[in-house]
Amino acid sequence: MQILLMGPPGAGKGTQAEFLVETYAIPHISTGDMFRKAQADGTELGLEAKRYMEAGDLVPDEVTIGIVRERLAEDDCKKGFLLDGFPRTVGQAEALKDILNDLDMQLDAALNIEVAEEELIKRLTGRRICKTCGATYHTVFNPPQTADVCDKDGGPLYQRKDDNEETAKNRLSVYAGQTQPLIDYYEKEGVLVRINGQQDVGQVTEDIKQALEARQ
Ligand SMILES: [Zn+2]
Repeated sequence: MQILLMGPPGAGKGTQAEFLVETYAIPHISTGDMFRKAQADGTELGLEAKRYMEAGDLVPDEVTIGIVRERLAEDDCKKGFLLDGFPRTVGQAEALKDILNDLDMQLDAALNIEVAEEELIKRLTGRRICKTCGATYHTVFNPPQTADVCDKDGGPLYQRKDDNEETAKNRLSVYAGQTQPLIDYYEKEGVLVRINGQQDVGQVTEDIKQALEARQ
């Protein structure tokens, strides 16, 4: 299974990634992990990426793509992989296609977990933290027994500044602007699979499973 996983912040991508990695016994290839590994292994590209990051610069595309190429050529990717966070642009998607062609592989599915903006904002702004003990709650997913009061010690709960609606809206609009061209690209390529992320987590998993089985 060669899978690409996309979804906005708050869509529950992490949970579904865990499921996919376990179910198909494939490596989870996220951009961050890949960069860290290339650096730890001391590959030429890894060290080059490190220099850019340490200087606070964006890692250029050719370096990122080179690192992806190295990673996908490793043995553990022979039976598949889950790509997460790459590609971010259509240019990178085209480079990925070339890499996979060279490796005699192709993408089975580009999963896009879809959740309406209103719901995402609710999810992204619902986090509450206890001032006394630091325990975290969520107004929707993990509410305290009494609103704004910690279950453990009765301490007051507060909302972190960057969990507010404006920040959430900003993150989502940046994400949408960046991702829409990719969604269009994979739709044209015929591998886009839209997943309704606005349902019970287990049902989302079930839908992904069925969609992937249908494509095998
Ligand atoms: Zn507390």
